[in-house]
Amino acid sequence: MDQKFSYCALPPQSEPVIPPGIGHDRARAILQFSAKWVNGTALHYYFFDRKEDGSQVRFTNGTSRFVTWVGAEAQRQVVRDAFQVWKDLGIGLEFREVSDRNQAEIRIGFMDFDGSWSYLGRGILQAGVNERTMNFGWDLTTPYGRTTALHEIGHTLGMPHEHQNPFTGIQWDEEAVYAHLGGPPNNWTRQQTFHNVLRKLNTQEVSGSTWDPNSVMEYSFPPGLILAPEKYRNEGISPPGTISPVDAEYIRQWYPPLAPEGPPPLKPFESVPLDLASGQQADFSIAPEATRDYTFGTFGSTDVVLVLFEQVGDELRYVTGDDDSGAPRNATLKQKLFQDRRYVLRMRLYSAWQSGKSAVMYW
Ligand SMILES: [Zn+2]
Repeated sequence: MDQKFSYCALPPQSEPVIPPGIGHDRARAILQFSAKWVNGTALHYYFFDRKEDGSQVRFTNGTSRFVTWVGAEAQRQVVRDAFQVWKDLGIGLEFREVSDRNQAEIRIGFMDFDGSWSYLGRGILQAGVNERTMNFGWDLTTPYGRTTALHEIGHTLGMPHEHQNPFTGIQWDEEAVYAHLGGPPNNWTRQQTFHNVLRKLNTQEVSGSTWDPNSVMEYSFPPGLILAPEKYRNEGISPPGTISPVDAEYIRQWYPPLAPEGPPPLKPFESVPLDLASGQQADFSIAPEATRDYTFGTFGSTDVVLVLFEQVGDELRYVTGDDDSGAPRNATLKQKLFQDRRYVLRMRLYSAWQSGKSAVMYW
């Protein structure tokens, strides 16, 4: 059986630069966590909807034409359903559709000839407001299309490609892979094939030390592309195309359900000592005593990401954030707060060293 799948191709993206002199565990935490959202973040998604939303495409036969980014309602519905499937795992992130691109972290196009892709995790914030952070280049209303929608959202949540896990043990027939992906329907350059398939992720970039061939982040591969292990050489790889138990465990570990009673209060000028494990998060609710400028500070030999949200209606809106990972300084926020408004501060620890203790305070 010679199956030809259209594959997701991640766009090249700048990766975090680890300063020299940073130890292995600290570097590992930075590489793994820098793509992840702070738990409790409400991510807003928008579907491009104007007739000028699109790209001019030049074809190999020399012609060119405008190709829209606007998707049909049936295509959009598959994406909405896929967000709901992720949410139904019980994760602490929220997904909300918005009709204003300015309010959206996730901006979605359905452009033919451009493949399916998403930027990885918080990396989507680097894209301009009129740019896509995610594209679907083929019909989503098929079983494979539904898998594609789950897969691209997985990237937006910070999940990399599972077949690039350094623990796969897969030995590729590299020229066969270049030939397979260089032909239709993908027509990838060797560079794209290397970036998206053959390149192994750094062991520091993946969590755990095992490979999950059933992951929704794993591509299907027909027989003939893998030299070893024997099983995959003969059968190829055929993940079921749904969120696997390991995917679900992984994403719930990153984005656990939020406590229904809400976070404890943080009082001004009261330092709160924290003893967080790597990847853990502390949340606080804030009711300002006066309308004025405030400073939020973190203390200790730590890498943290610190994010302030404001309660607006029934959701928390991002106000400001700081990420001190890899830097010698500590995360700090300066922000005017209003007495009659309510806020939530979230602090996620990448790693801590020396005492392993940290603290947070605002004043
Ligand atoms: Zn992908």
